[in-house]
Amino acid sequence: MRFDRLWRGANLATLAPQRPGIGLIERGALGVADGRIAFVGEEAELPAGSEAKEEYNLQGRLVSPGLIDCHTHLVFAADRSREFELRLAGADYQSIAKAGGGIFSTVRATRAASEELLLSAASERLRALLAEGVTTLEIKSGYGLDSETELRMLRVARRLAQTNRVEIRTTLLAAHALPPERERSAYLAFIADELIPQAKRLGLADAVDGFCEGIAFSAAELRRVFASARAQGLAVKVHADQLSDTGGAALAAECGALSADHLEWSNDEGIAALARSGTVAVLLPGAFFMLREQRRPPVAALRKAGVPIAIATDCNPGTSPLLSILTAMNMAAIQFGLTADETIAAVTREAARALGRGGELGTLEIGKQADLAVWNVERAAELVYWVGRNPLHARVWRGA
Ligand SMILES: [Zn+2]
Repeated sequence: MRFDRLWRGANLATLAPQRPGIGLIERGALGVADGRIAFVGEEAELPAGSEAKEEYNLQGRLVSPGLIDCHTHLVFAADRSREFELRLAGADYQSIAKAGGGIFSTVRATRAASEELLLSAASERLRALLAEGVTTLEIKSGYGLDSETELRMLRVARRLAQTNRVEIRTTLLAAHALPPERERSAYLAFIADELIPQAKRLGLADAVDGFCEGIAFSAAELRRVFASARAQGLAVKVHADQLSDTGGAALAAECGALSADHLEWSNDEGIAALARSGTVAVLLPGAFFMLREQRRPPVAALRKAGVPIAIATDCNPGTSPLLSILTAMNMAAIQFGLTADETIAAVTREAARALGRGGELGTLEIGKQADLAVWNVERAAELVYWVGRNPLHARVWRGA
């Protein structure tokens, strides 16, 4: 066989579903050709006469699929550290709102920000994720709440993918909050009838998300938004049951959503529905941590029902200023009780499914895109174990 690149002497965390656990292959080799995985297996099984233009001996290092951060709000202007400071000093929600804090402070700043300013701020955040082996991420809009700013945010997300070696999936989240100047039903009609078709026409959105919560929108309201997304051929994702049980999980299943995200308050019927619809549960330990939440997502019930579980940073200025997928992994294991193997699958194979990219990404299997992370560790559990150590040795995107 002829490869463009061949890595030998690797411990391979393949995440191949037909193998147990993380699908570990010791003393493995991985060859890529034309940006795709052409060989993966034990080094001893390499066909005789295999050659490569470039060859590396990894001396026992671990190779995993490139990490996938499947839920971020990476594009925004201005942080909310002032509001954070007030909260630490004991201020309540009302006084923070009075001081101009909360989501609408981010909306005001983002509306006022130029595309270039948003791009440079998001680029810096993106660099932090790439430095930890992220090769694919999702970015949501949702701080514009008007067509001009929502589309600007999505354009910035697309531009980040043109200037960095990374795949970015974009999600229109205009149904994040009701802008103060709009009337509810008119705003929802605007999203469903104008903004979604426009984002689709411009090629700016891969999916549509909505915040199903008492402080945002009800399941009945979001149904109309998601029906429009489906009609336009866009995938659906749902911020579901984070702060209360509003039937978000059942809504996600009903709408054939790729993922239902947060899920702290999801009920048993909602979980059963997710299992039937093949919707991925995306758990977001950063927001849980920052909000000092007490109610954990129902991991045991999700596991029992066979719902795939992914983890993401949820990087956003209000509730999860988290720019470390490795920290999110540790948090999910410690706070939510995932096993080490589940945690690694949650940022690779299952995160790929949460983005509708499971056929191309998320495992080390022949034919898949050669997105890899090479780690200065021998055991995969170390990726979950360390807090604040980044053992990335190399990041490979599309074979290079
Ligand atoms: Zn979110």
